[in-house]
Amino acid sequence: MSTSFFGKYIVPEAATLRNTDSYRTIPPIDDGAAREVLYGGTRLLNLASNNYLGLSSHPELIEAATKAATRHGCSSGASRLITGNFALAETLEAELATFKHQEAALVTSSGYAANLAVFTALADRHTVVFSDRLNHASIIDGVLLSGARLVRYRHLDMGHLERLLAREALVDKKIIVTDSVFSMDGDVAPLARLVELGKAHGALIVVDEAHAMGVLGRGRGLTAALGLSEDVDVHVGTLSKALGSLGGYVAGRVETIELLRNRGRSFIFSTALPPAVLGASLAALRHIKSNPGLGARLMRLSKQIRDHLIGLGFDTMGSTTQIIPVSCGRNRVALHAQALLRAEGLLVAAVRPPTVPQGTARLRLSLRADLTDDDLKRIRLGFSRLRVTFFP
Ligand code: PMP
Repeated sequence: MSTSFFGKYIVPEAATLRNTDSYRTIPPIDDGAAREVLYGGTRLLNLASNNYLGLSSHPELIEAATKAATRHGCSSGASRLITGNFALAETLEAELATFKHQEAALVTSSGYAANLAVFTALADRHTVVFSDRLNHASIIDGVLLSGARLVRYRHLDMGHLERLLAREALVDKKIIVTDSVFSMDGDVAPLARLVELGKAHGALIVVDEAHAMGVLGRGRGLTAALGLSEDVDVHVGTLSKALGSLGGYVAGRVETIELLRNRGRSFIFSTALPPAVLGASLAALRHIKSNPGLGARLMRLSKQIRDHLIGLGFDTMGSTTQIIPVSCGRNRVALHAQALLRAEGLLVAAVRPPTVPQGTARLRLSLRADLTDDDLKRIRLGFSRLRVTFFP
């Protein structure tokens, strides 16, 4: 070990970080995807995970995962292109493609890896990528890794996007990318207008449905809900959130998927998902197909909670989905509110920069379809009490 580097840079940087209010530690949580989690030994209602439909502990997923592990073991042993393939992966991809109304799909080891695969396969240093300013970090990282030029437009601002597209009229290879549901704001992209602009300027359109997959459009995502499945070129998503499993996917035209298989660095240079995870993902997909009303229930209860919060005077930052931020501004305010809610038996995330822009720290509730009426009452009561403390 280079002790001079360690002593000169790592020790003081860690010490400085430790003294800031953006310092991160792993919370003392056990059973973190469950409806109720143990937090330092206390049971709290879990409003912080992305297990939106509560599927991670569904018997159908557990049975499929167990069966696959019993039959095939615990690892895939290599990347897909070497020996890490399983018939289960191919079935999952075929069913995902059909579900998303696309020709083909590719499964990756996470949603993060899916975005890295998309941009390393489809973009290069001659490409300009137009990206909503609040797009997920994996999109930014994918673009950076591809060597493409990143041009960020103001959040949801299609006028700004149009001006930036016009400014780059001489560039041939253009990609527009957006989250469909934004992970920290819970608002949605104006996809119809974005598709129009993409077509007018000859840009490839990439939509990341990580938080909409399994939830909106009878589980198929926002593009499907808006009837735009055919107009969006590349559909990215995750199996790690509403699907209660792990992994990412990309769906689109056959040739697009071919390029990803041949050039997507996160796909080529990493071990494939293990059989248990593939089994669980396939069971989740089939469960969502045969229970298309799950997402609608989640939207209904999200609206009830959001209306209650707005009624109390909280700013929910334009959310229209199951992700509901409560604006706090300063980091310390968000951490304090989080602690007060914990005392009420509620676990919510306090999201701070760099995850969100400076000065926009917030609480982030992610609601789930398996909340009971009692749970909803607890949430309403907890926030009513928080309101009294915050605006006495
Ligand atoms: N895209 C978006 C929009 C996300 O919010 C996330 C996860 N926070 C990802 C991709 C990454 O997905 P995964 O957690 O499966 O890596």
